[in-house]
Amino acid sequence: LGTGLKDAVKKLAGKTVIDRAAVEELVKDLQRVLLQADVNVKLVMNLSKAVKARSLEEEPPKGMSVREHVLRIVYQELVNLMGDEVTVTLGPQTILMAGLQGSGKTTTTGKLARYFQRKGLRVGVICADVFRPGAYDQLRNLCSKVNVPCYGEPGVTDAVKIVENGIRELKNAEVLIIDTQGRHALEDDLITEIIDLNVLTKATHRWLVIDAALGQQAKEQAARFHEAISIDGVIITKMDGTAKGGGALSAVAETGSGIVFTGSGETIEDLERFDPDSFISRLLGMGDLKSLLEKAEEVMADEEFDVNAMMKGKFTLRDMYKQLESLKKMGPLKQVMSMLPMGGAKIPEDVFDTTSVKMERYKIIMDSMTNEELENPSVISGSRVQRISLGAGANPEEVRELLKYYKTMQRAIKGFRGAGGKFNMQRMMK
Ligand code: GDP
Ligand code: MG
Repeated sequence: LGTGLKDAVKKLAGKTVIDRAAVEELVKDLQRVLLQADVNVKLVMNLSKAVKARSLEEEPPKGMSVREHVLRIVYQELVNLMGDEVTVTLGPQTILMAGLQGSGKTTTTGKLARYFQRKGLRVGVICADVFRPGAYDQLRNLCSKVNVPCYGEPGVTDAVKIVENGIRELKNAEVLIIDTQGRHALEDDLITEIIDLNVLTKATHRWLVIDAALGQQAKEQAARFHEAISIDGVIITKMDGTAKGGGALSAVAETGSGIVFTGSGETIEDLERFDPDSFISRLLGMGDLKSLLEKAEEVMADEEFDVNAMMKGKFTLRDMYKQLESLKKMGPLKQVMSMLPMGGAKIPEDVFDTTSVKMERYKIIMDSMTNEELENPSVISGSRVQRISLGAGANPEEVRELLKYYKTMQRAIKGFRGAGGKFNMQRMMK
């Protein structure tokens, strides 16, 4: 995690005028984090310049704190770095896959076939990789899992011929995806071949597949392919690994395109449409920067709401009381929870269904509880339920409902922690 970045953000807190030194420090830490994530030096420098200039020149909009203002600029400049938003049309099209060997082209071809199939389109796939032995089998295996027809001619060395035949063979396909050969390095005949394939297929899209772990070489590869066939989208694979994928941003810059999909696993289902917010969060090693920005200011004022204690293991009725208080400021629980990096944990839906009226009732009931009961709800027996309900002017059923709500919350938080979730907001903003 960008500790420095967090500290730098901290230093902006409470400032009422832009402090040049604080901005410079933030930019320096931002640079470090981005470079560590393999973002190209020149891109980092451009971003830094823009952040600095805008932070110092632009007036914070009315009612916006200095910190919000600067972070907002950081966020906007990061979004710029992600390139254009690429729309994926759900209609007839031909997609030509480009990229070096091992980048994940064949796997992604299978994933894309699955993606379009799920959208109700007839898909066909052609293996034009005449370089790698077993290329056809690999693709056919992937496609057979989902019943997508896969054309190939193992042993034949003329990729253009294969694709010509494949187009004829798969004429019923609405979406045609062509997997091509990759080499370990860019060679002239590889480039010539992909140009020929592009001319032959009149491809609707030419997508470049980049391994998230690819660092500075991404720029050169992208430039070469772009010059040859005009790349109009980038796919970043292996996002399930430790690499942040920052190198692929140079491919985006080089081709003037955007990121279409990301791949996050070896199975055919592990493909996601690109989401700039989560990519940025990952790049910086922070929770959802944008949403947190929007909520953080108000919540900061609430000293009592100790999210960290809640996440560490202690979650008493008293914690829940504080939480109910804070939720009024933070907005619906569902919204707040959706901003957290959940690590796959599922929060039961009924946790979210509690209305604010009900929450108010719960608070009144909790006011009738003793300290002991609030700290250690397990002591609340049947007779205590009676006493509490009398004191609060509620019926026992309501008290039991509150206790059930508490248990559900507790379970959800446990599950959240178990899944390795982290509540980054406080750590980042405090
Ligand atoms: P190609 O040479 O470009 O066709 O690359 P392949 O599709 O054969 O992929 C190379 C290796 O990377 C294979 O072992 C794939 O299973 C693996 N791979 C591809 N995409 C991903 C991904 O998103 N995550 C992970 N973990 N592995 C991937
Ligand atoms: Mg391949």
